[in-house]
Amino acid sequence: MPIKSRIRTVPDYPKKGIMFRDITTLIKDPVGFRLVIDNMTQHYLSNGVDFDVIVGIEARGFILGGALAYTLGKGFVPVRKPGKLPADVVQLEYELEYGTDKIEMHTDSLVEGQRVLLVDDLLATGGTALAAAGLVEKLGGVVAGMAFIVNLPDIGGEKKIREKGYDIYSLTEFE
Ligand code: IMP
Repeated sequence: MPIKSRIRTVPDYPKKGIMFRDITTLIKDPVGFRLVIDNMTQHYLSNGVDFDVIVGIEARGFILGGALAYTLGKGFVPVRKPGKLPADVVQLEYELEYGTDKIEMHTDSLVEGQRVLLVDDLLATGGTALAAAGLVEKLGGVVAGMAFIVNLPDIGGEKKIREKGYDIYSLTEFE
């Protein structure tokens, strides 16, 4: 598949036993980047998921989300790691395999009832995407859908997210 074959796998990164799926090789290729954005754009123009704004998760979600916001004629809102956003923020702490992590959004980045498409490069356990969804909902937003380039279904994030009733779209999968 033209998208999947452009994604590089880096064994043992960031630690031994992990097969890291690296999308930088996909998006440095103008054909690859265009395939990603055109495919997602067509999907959201035709599938009836109605949303007002794109929320991208730091950092690779910014690349995908920024381009998609442009093609779909939506605004873009960042979800960032702590200490990066200059104005008032809301924060959400979530569990990792070992320990916890935190993400933030500007308090005024969404208005009550605003419908959001969440985007990131990759879905594994779903922890990051569900934390971002929690933050969007804390601000009164509604998660209309979640989009990823890569889904790793065997890790279980997709199942967890679908069980919570969120719509998911991804372009390719790895075992
Ligand atoms: P999750 O929270 O376990 O679903 O992991 C997804 C988050 O970790 C996303 O923000 C990804 O960018 C990052 N991530 C986890 N595994 C990989 C990988 O193999 N390649 C690229 N990013 C990854």
